[in-house]
Amino acid sequence: MQLLSGNEAIAQGAWEAGARIGVGYPGTPSTETMESFGAKENVYAEWCANEKVAVEVAVGASAAGARVLATMKHVGVNVAADPLYTAAYTGVNGGLVVLAADDPGMHSSQNEQDTRFHAQGAHIPVVEPSDSAEAREYTMQAFEASERFDIPFFVRSTVRVSHAKSPVEVGERVERDLIPYEKDPSKWVMMPAYAKPRRTSLDARIAQVAQWAETSPLNRLELNDTSIGVICAGASYQYVRDALPNASILKLGITWPIATGLIAKLANHVDALYVVEEGSDYLSMQVKATSVTVSEPPAHALPKEGELTPGIIRSAFGLALPEELPTQQDVPGRPPALCAGCPHRLVFKELSRAKCIVTGDIGCYTLGALPPLAGMDSTLDMGASISMAHGFELALAGTEHHPVVAVIGDSTFGHSGFTSLLSTAYNKGAGTICILDNRTTGMTGHQGNPFNGITLQNRPSRELDLEGMVRSLGISDVQVVNPNNMKDVRAAIKGATSRTEELSVIIFRSPCVLLKKVFERQAPYTITSDCRACGVCVTLGCPAIARIEETGEACIDPDQCVGCGQCQAYCGFGAIVRMEGALR
Ligand code: SF4
Ligand code: SF4
Repeated sequence: MQLLSGNEAIAQGAWEAGARIGVGYPGTPSTETMESFGAKENVYAEWCANEKVAVEVAVGASAAGARVLATMKHVGVNVAADPLYTAAYTGVNGGLVVLAADDPGMHSSQNEQDTRFHAQGAHIPVVEPSDSAEAREYTMQAFEASERFDIPFFVRSTVRVSHAKSPVEVGERVERDLIPYEKDPSKWVMMPAYAKPRRTSLDARIAQVAQWAETSPLNRLELNDTSIGVICAGASYQYVRDALPNASILKLGITWPIATGLIAKLANHVDALYVVEEGSDYLSMQVKATSVTVSEPPAHALPKEGELTPGIIRSAFGLALPEELPTQQDVPGRPPALCAGCPHRLVFKELSRAKCIVTGDIGCYTLGALPPLAGMDSTLDMGASISMAHGFELALAGTEHHPVVAVIGDSTFGHSGFTSLLSTAYNKGAGTICILDNRTTGMTGHQGNPFNGITLQNRPSRELDLEGMVRSLGISDVQVVNPNNMKDVRAAIKGATSRTEELSVIIFRSPCVLLKKVFERQAPYTITSDCRACGVCVTLGCPAIARIEETGEACIDPDQCVGCGQCQAYCGFGAIVRMEGALR
């Protein structure tokens, strides 16, 4: 018995099921799954440049006869949608399971999105665990079913299932020989002549999965009280058990295709039937489509956005809420902010100062949008910064406008920024692209990427030449700048944004301050009696700098300060100095 998170349990299930290969792109709340899988014996795992690439590698490995796990967060499913939709047509050889981890409540995402809509659209069955033990079990079942029904399977998780830990009975790995690959263009070559019959085959395969869903132990009918019946899945099942302990429940472990016979059985058993789900009406729509009447909770409707809690469910059903125990408030509330000494900070400060229109991207540096830096105008999706900057330039051409600057990280540039830059360069776009190269994939926890030469399993690899890649697109205006040096940052931005007819790229390169063994903390800085309480240094937003309430003077917390020296450059009174004799 082990205490595992849902993510770790999915990795364990894949390993026990004999999966040999794991591929993915990091993204909260899915990331730990591939890290955990990659650390196991007899497997190969890699971070791919993006989710589309990961699924394409997975389909190749499956065709060659291996069981393969692909992982991503919900927005990554959009990136992978192209190969996924066709993978349902080709089907599999070795079992192919895709973890899609959704984030209701948007703890670390730019939208709420229910992968089950994609699953239905793509004709890919979904299994949905409610805890870690089920995460392991369902993953193993998904591999079996994938091979049995000749189709990829989704394991859908949400943030609570992915990150909460619960006991799991683990087992031994079953090594599996490769299933022999047989050349068969009618299965693997999806040109219209072959795709059309595969569409018919797809419908037949899904019909078989739907039949299996009626009897599979992954769907569970818990018949209790006849007054209330609830259909739920995933984390919502745990909340329903807590909030409505006497209710009859259909716990769906297979959420596409759904077991219509089991739904009818529950509907016949109860006076009123409800669907309880988070952030989407996917299940409710599925149930209503079976002609079963779905009731609204008696007190008020369940919220359409965000996560559920047992309290929210009880309130919707007009039940008293359990008495809340007071929580100890001994941790100060802190707004999200770039870390002390973050090498992205000065870039946003200077872009803001230069009144640039800044199209941003996904990563730590999205925090550059927040005050006091307030240095970003937009964030849409991975790679959108460069394409959106091109859109701004096209629309504003011929007008007086602020300089347009795209800001993107190194990992995101590898994910999909490169194709955006390729397109912009090809179409003779103008504007400035800042690539914030902090030598890692910061926000998801320091995964390797094509530009830092570290693979998921720490195998030595190439460190791709970022400048060379940019130059290969015919862009000659390329500079590499130390982002900790205010004068250099200011000069680079000023120069690049003044060359308005050209496309320019500035690579700001300095390691993330949290990169152990790479980033070296220096002696901290301190504030001297020369401080005039002007507050300029505080506008950098470094968490190590604060103002003394009584005097307005600045102060630096030496424990937080990493000694980057960024703030020193902004003090017009020379009041910020390196702390004498405090070498680390
Ligand atoms: S910029 Fe200099 S003078 Fe102004 S508050 Fe900071 S340390 Fe004091
Ligand atoms: S030197 Fe200044 S900007 Fe850098 S970490 Fe210390 S307080 Fe923050």
